Amino acid sequence: MISKKEQLDKLNKYWQENCKCKLRETATQAVFGDGNAESEIVFIGEAPGKNEDLKGIPFVGAAGKFLEEMLEDIKKKREDIYITNIVKYRPPNNRDPEPDEKEDCNEWLINELKIISPKLIVFLGRHSMGRFFPGELISDLHGKLLIKNTKELGKQAFMPLYHPASALYNGSMREVLIHDFKKIPLALQKIK
Ligand code: URA
Repeated sequence: MISKKEQLDKLNKYWQENCKCKLRETATQAVFGDGNAESEIVFIGEAPGKNEDLKGIPFVGAAGKFLEEMLEDIKKKREDIYITNIVKYRPPNNRDPEPDEKEDCNEWLINELKIISPKLIVFLGRHSMGRFFPGELISDLHGKLLIKNTKELGKQAFMPLYHPASALYNGSMREVLIHDFKKIPLALQKIK
């Protein structure tokens, strides 16, 4: 039986060669998901930024540092969880990823989630929430445990959170994010 880590390595190798996303032309490299393939939580961000593009690792800049602080609050380390992005390549000048770019990276993400098969998927920001909850507002759903029957993953638990980069320099959003983040351990307990 091949381990989840080995399955992810194979998946990333395949998509690195076959992803049609046009951001490949401008990005330095693909930024694969990172962390513990056996984790019961997967965090999904938006897209790599400048630091991530250079290092090839997600969430290594200021937003990543903030995320690590919030993980510490719930007695977890970055190595305990798995973190990935909707889009695996940096959009130029950190603009929002476009619908076709999200679509081109979609199968990669879905395959990644199927391999890890986490108990809880945490959305970091509206772009990743929009993948599974299109048309919903993050201002309505942040911090809520949502169970949904999805076409790709079957019955799955989700929790939307504000994106740490948006909350970093916005006092009230920052407070809300820190508060919501602390709901993760209880959410994990509640999920069957
Ligand atoms: N923001 C994201 O959404 N992803 C990263 O990897 C870094 C910052």
